[in-house]
Amino acid sequence: MESPWYSLMTNVAVVAFFVSVWTQLRDIFEHFGPRAVQAAFGVLMGVGAIVNMLFPVHFAPGVFFDLRTCLLVLAAFFGGPIAALIAAGLAIAYRLWVGGAGAPSGVLAVVLVIIVGTLGHLWLRWRGQRTARWHSIALALATCAVGLLGAALINANVGYGSWTLLFFSVLLSGLALGHDEELRAARRENQIYREVLDTLPDSISVRDLGGRFLAANPATASLFGAPRPAAMIGRLPDAFRTATPPLTSDPDVAAPPPAGPNEFQQALRLPDGTTTWLQTLEVPLVDHQGRRIGVITHNRDITTQKRLEIELDERQRVLSFAMAQMSDGVAMYDHTGRLLFCNARYQQLFPLTSDVRVPGALFRDILATAVARHEQQVGVTPAETSAWIDRIAASLYRDTEEEIHLFNGTWLRVSTRPSPDGVSMAVVSDITSLKRTELELLSVAEQLRQEATTDALTGLVNRRALDQRIEIEIARSLRTGSALSVILLDIDHFKAYNDTYGHLAGDACLKAVSQGLGQVFRRPSDLVARFGGEEFLVMLPEVDAESAYHLANQYRGVLKDMALPHRASRIGHVTVSLGIASYAPGETERSAADLVGRADEALYAAKTAGRDRVSGWRRRLGVVSRRLRVV
Ligand code: GH3
Ligand code: MG
Ligand code: MG
Repeated sequence: MESPWYSLMTNVAVVAFFVSVWTQLRDIFEHFGPRAVQAAFGVLMGVGAIVNMLFPVHFAPGVFFDLRTCLLVLAAFFGGPIAALIAAGLAIAYRLWVGGAGAPSGVLAVVLVIIVGTLGHLWLRWRGQRTARWHSIALALATCAVGLLGAALINANVGYGSWTLLFFSVLLSGLALGHDEELRAARRENQIYREVLDTLPDSISVRDLGGRFLAANPATASLFGAPRPAAMIGRLPDAFRTATPPLTSDPDVAAPPPAGPNEFQQALRLPDGTTTWLQTLEVPLVDHQGRRIGVITHNRDITTQKRLEIELDERQRVLSFAMAQMSDGVAMYDHTGRLLFCNARYQQLFPLTSDVRVPGALFRDILATAVARHEQQVGVTPAETSAWIDRIAASLYRDTEEEIHLFNGTWLRVSTRPSPDGVSMAVVSDITSLKRTELELLSVAEQLRQEATTDALTGLVNRRALDQRIEIEIARSLRTGSALSVILLDIDHFKAYNDTYGHLAGDACLKAVSQGLGQVFRRPSDLVARFGGEEFLVMLPEVDAESAYHLANQYRGVLKDMALPHRASRIGHVTVSLGIASYAPGETERSAADLVGRADEALYAAKTAGRDRVSGWRRRLGVVSRRLRVV
């Protein structure tokens, strides 16, 4: 009888053969999808098991041993249920076809290892794990255990050597298949990375310490003008560069690899004369022991971004220059009231708060500082400051024009223009000289107005203004139904005064007489006017005839006390004649012409009665005033 080791070694060789055939053929079936792989694996392992059965070891009559279980358990464990069923089907069919007393136990052994392998496969799937080394050990142990169980059932002894061989066959084959799977997974991953790198628009390359390319993607090839990435491997970057020297630094010149990640921007002038801007990241390439063996370079084309940046910078420079040259202050606030931008002029125009008018500052804080430092005349009490700030802060988002007066006398005009996106623009102009002119014009206008209504010599209301005031007072007295009196007075023998003392002395006399009037008719409502020449009119609202008479005499007394000398007068000092006309309360027929006419009549009466006296108007038919006569 030949040695059992001869058959056993044949079995081992068969196992090794089929396992290695599978690792070679697998790629063919990969094209047809996972099912085809599983089916082919099942068929190959089933056939292998049959071949194993062709070389059984005879231990005793009816006691055979071969390594069929090895390939079957591998089919189930690595191929899954489909491979298991096919392999088991082939093995069982063959075993049944051969027949014999050992057929049932042979079939049982097949079924058991198939179950063990399939359970192992499903367990791995369920855990989502890849095969590890210890799985092969466990699988080998389980296969031996099943074999031993089967042997025990039929009470057969095949020797420890057989079981040891089975154990190592399963273990080594399992390790080989596991390793093959690992390699395939790694290859798939590599392929994915490769595809990512190939499709990436960014240039990625790896160079050794000498600067030679170890790897490059198509984007790197096109950046360097290389025909294809493979053409770059083992060569220095200089071999491909036909461009003029770069504007800044070269992207891939053999320089000592950086100790750590190194990121920078660089401009590269391409052969066609254009400039490309790159954002470059260099990372050291290290081996398993952490030694630097090269550098990985990532270049991103940022030309468009860079061009926009340069354009923006240029525009900003022009804008800043324009802003700096402006005579007006310009500030921009965002929708929260935060200062976004302002020119230097804006800060200069506010000398006490220029330090707080900076981008990022809140408008409300700026206002509060302006108040605290008394930069601006806000015209509110400290208690009202907060409300004032609220009002001004709100005005930032309305179309407004405001004039503000600073502590140093400067006048500023602030115009605010909100934009639809919530930003508000404030333009501040120095209007001090404009304001000064405006104020001067106002005072001139006021002076003119004064002059138009005032008599230059006496400072009293002139005739023009008097005419308007009389009408107003008549209307008012009609409304209220109150009394109204006028006194018309005329200096006696004034022509003679002039003739005696001269015209200038006459003027002085007129002034003195008018000042005397101011002493008697002092109520705010009393109106004393120069009626013309040496005649004066006093209008006394809410004064009846009797009181007017009394006041007129009082004035005569004042004049008497003043005792202005008048040689040409019989009395010896300046005197006046006074005519009074009044409307009694409730009198409804009133007119300025009528009232003044009556006063004139009364004055005439005083004159004719001998001068230096007061005369009240009385209705006397046939008597007409001097003035009416003249007219
Ligand atoms: P009677 O008592 O009747 O009022 O006589 P009278 O001389 O005062 O009256 P008359 O109307 O004859 O003369 C008024 C004079 O007043 C004539 C004019 O020279 C003088 N007079 C008028 N206005 C002024 C003035 O502004 N300055 C001076 N110095 N004299 C004036
Ligand atoms: Mg007169
Ligand atoms: Mg007179």
